[in-house]
Amino acid sequence: MSQPTKYKRILLKLSGEALAGPSGYNIDPAVLEQYSKEIRQVVDMGVQVAIVIGGGNIFRGVSGERSGIDRVQGDYMGMLATVINAMAIQSSLEKHGMFTRVMSAIKMEQVCEPYVRRRAVRHLEKGRVVIFGAGTGSPYFTTDTTASLRAIEIEADVVLKGTKVDGVYSADPMKDKTAERYTSISFQDVYEKKLNVMDLTAFTLCQENNLPIIVFNMNQQGSLLRVVQGDEDAGTLIH
Ligand code: UDP
Repeated sequence: MSQPTKYKRILLKLSGEALAGPSGYNIDPAVLEQYSKEIRQVVDMGVQVAIVIGGGNIFRGVSGERSGIDRVQGDYMGMLATVINAMAIQSSLEKHGMFTRVMSAIKMEQVCEPYVRRRAVRHLEKGRVVIFGAGTGSPYFTTDTTASLRAIEIEADVVLKGTKVDGVYSADPMKDKTAERYTSISFQDVYEKKLNVMDLTAFTLCQENNLPIIVFNMNQQGSLLRVVQGDEDAGTLIH
């Protein structure tokens, strides 16, 4: 029998870059393996899990622009990159015994389902992990914004932003030894202190819809589980 968890339905945002591991590009099988184990732990507790994955390890629209690729074209390339990552995670999660669906905001029916909100919710209710690919389907947005948008649409309890650090700090902890980690902070304070949590579009969507965000370290073993169980030291809650 699974123990009670604080959150019943979560939207987990993973960056593409994190998937790349130390090399910074492509997909690191060791990271996939670790992430799948972490996700399995919360699925086993009966938590409904939706995932948005970035594409920064493969392509970013803005960087394409620097190499002469039109911004909009580059953004679509970035969205396609997120589908590649979504498929990689899907494969790994299934290897670890979970049921999954990839739903894409850009139709590509040979490889995944199109995104349909009601179907996404149905999949979640049936215990399937739903991975949202191709971002919002529109250029000039980010996968952080996708995470906020999809979380609101599927009525997730919280957005969990998995990063390389264990929360939001008063300054960059890599550069400033006096930087302190917040256990919890309001949307307003994040905004006023200009702390970097998500891009402003993503952040405002959460704030306006009273959707809390938790920033936590996805690379730390057991951290996702602790967050879902409501351990306040496992990350920073923005509310
Ligand atoms: N992208 C987009 N619209 C979206 C989501 C993503 O155009 O709704 C493009 C954008 O070019 C972005 C790229 O996809 O740079 C990859 O996403 P992101 O940079 O957010 O990935 P991450 O930084 O999380 O790896």
